[in-house]
Amino acid sequence: MLLLIPGPVQTRPEVRAAMAQDIAPWDSGFQPVYARVRDRIVAVAGGTPGVHATLPIQGAGHFVTEAALRTFVAPGAKVLIPMNGAYATRMARLAREAGRVVVELPLPDTRGATAADILPALDADPAIGTVAMVFNETGSGIVNDAPGIGDALRTRGTRLILDAVSAFGVLPFPMAEHPECDALVFTSGKCLEGMPGMGFAVARIDRADACAGNAGSWSFDLSDVLAHARRSGWGSIRFTPPVQAIAAFDVALDLYEREGGQAARLARYRENAAILYDGVLALGLKPYLAREHQGPVIVTIHQPADPRFDLMTFVEALKRRGVLISNFYNTAAPTMRIGAIGAITPDDMRRAVAAIGQALDDVLKQAA
Ligand SMILES: *Cc1c(COP(=O)(O)O)cnc(C)c1O
Repeated sequence: MLLLIPGPVQTRPEVRAAMAQDIAPWDSGFQPVYARVRDRIVAVAGGTPGVHATLPIQGAGHFVTEAALRTFVAPGAKVLIPMNGAYATRMARLAREAGRVVVELPLPDTRGATAADILPALDADPAIGTVAMVFNETGSGIVNDAPGIGDALRTRGTRLILDAVSAFGVLPFPMAEHPECDALVFTSGKCLEGMPGMGFAVARIDRADACAGNAGSWSFDLSDVLAHARRSGWGSIRFTPPVQAIAAFDVALDLYEREGGQAARLARYRENAAILYDGVLALGLKPYLAREHQGPVIVTIHQPADPRFDLMTFVEALKRRGVLISNFYNTAAPTMRIGAIGAITPDDMRRAVAAIGQALDDVLKQAA
């Protein structure tokens, strides 16, 4: 089965094999693995050792996103969120339920947000101290200009929290060049092609210290994660971690480096996305995004206008042809969402396009 979803992604057998062991988190055989993974993540983030640290939270991406919002935005403080997709909506809910004051900036979900979109909203409300935003919007496939927005925030002293969950490892945002960024967050099961189970923040150490006491939650406190590392060592983790997923992530990082790191992985994903985009056009389908706004991570496609089309039936038909895609969509208009990420080659993608054409025939013929 080809898994074409934006996480958890298709993985390589070497990564899955690393899970086949029992591990004690505090054991001297495992602590160095965990400490090494943290250092490797700071390097992938383009961070500076001693300035930036990897601060993990076990579980899904929402957990580490909540932890970053709670830690770096004080209770009752204002945070601006550019609202142009499903994950922005989620970020807003996490912040609001944590008691932070969310200022929503509505934007279309068919193009990435830029600094020019954000700055007027900041000018209009000087009480906004932080912008929290999604880098790659997994709902539609657009890419928000995080580096450009970061540059603009830096000159005015506004802080940034970046949800890079479906971008980290492929879309560059070098933390050393972005001191305005308190933290970016990502998970083990997306572009780095590991197993699901771990969330990571790459955060500024000075800010994590300065923000101690903000979180209002022990579980979701990145300042406490930092304090724990200082107290118990960088190979030690608060609470029981998914140790097998961490061991697998170390192997996933080996494969990432062997492939050629960020540039090579981005090139492969771009090629996957282009094959998919051109392929569905050739099948007579209509991509949701104009080509110039199409990012490399997922491609969303308008559902065929044919009244016989039904997404669930189509997903099952495609699955019978060996390809699994999301059975839901979260764009403004009804779409199908197909991932271009994971251990997927351009040849896999060409096979997938052929299968999509066949499954469409299956569904429309069957319904006829
Ligand atoms: C996947 C994803 C998340 C986190 O999702 P979880 O299901 O909590 O792991 C957050 N933001 C973006 C942009 C994502 O793609």
